[in-house]
Amino acid sequence: MTIRDLLDLARGKLAASDSAGIDAELLLGHALEVKRSFLYANPGLDVPARRRSRFLELVRRRQQGEPIAYLIGRRPFWTLDLEVTPDVLIPRPETELLVECALERLPAASSRRVADLGTGSGAIALAIARERPACEVHATDCSKAALALAQRNARRHGLDRVCFHAGNWAEPLNGSFDLIVSNPPYVARDDAHLSTGDCRFEPEMALTPGQSGMEAFVEITATAGARLQAGGWLLLEHGFDQAEALQALLDQHHYREIQCVKDLAGHDRVCIARKH
Ligand code: GLN
Repeated sequence: MTIRDLLDLARGKLAASDSAGIDAELLLGHALEVKRSFLYANPGLDVPARRRSRFLELVRRRQQGEPIAYLIGRRPFWTLDLEVTPDVLIPRPETELLVECALERLPAASSRRVADLGTGSGAIALAIARERPACEVHATDCSKAALALAQRNARRHGLDRVCFHAGNWAEPLNGSFDLIVSNPPYVARDDAHLSTGDCRFEPEMALTPGQSGMEAFVEITATAGARLQAGGWLLLEHGFDQAEALQALLDQHHYREIQCVKDLAGHDRVCIARKH
């Protein structure tokens, strides 16, 4: 069978998904260890049997709903091509808003101290480190497997200067920081969203902190302040319906200049506050 035959076959099998065409190409590129442009340039090329069965196995797993990012082990985020595994949340496009909000508060060439709590694949910490070479960037995670992956991602992108620490939220950090950012788990445990799409395959620990969905915010707002300078920034990604509760929590911990930023879909997505 040729590249064209296999792509047609896979598009048919994956037709239920609105990303069938691109998924088929990503999976075939992965099975053949070539770029997608190679597929366009060589549609008539015969695919060896071993590669073909490898591809059809990936298509079968995709049909069962496995996220494309886990199947190919990659996800683009910001300007980074990140390795991802089922040990970490798959970086979401809306999280790039959190990076933008952080960068707006970190003047170019500034040597600020920045921390990313619950870094997962390292997406946020590495994007900030890439854009602000003079900043000292730290990242924490309580999952050893996530930290090992984040460290591999740092090495892949020549960002080894980012310091990784094992532990909960701000706990493993020392000294004081100018900006702390986090995309913690925030989905309520009984949210139907958890049994749909990619979420079904992602680590529960990265998605849901407990019954209410607010538990990680409670811990972070109570503890991150001790690691922030006066006037330092705290930036948190949250669910579309959590802005009010999170703002109240920040207010309770005496943060000031509390504001909320909407994502491209028009949903409240990031809360920003300054330490008093
Ligand atoms: N935004 C993600 C989702 O909707 C959840 C990410 C998170 O909990 N930090 O699946």
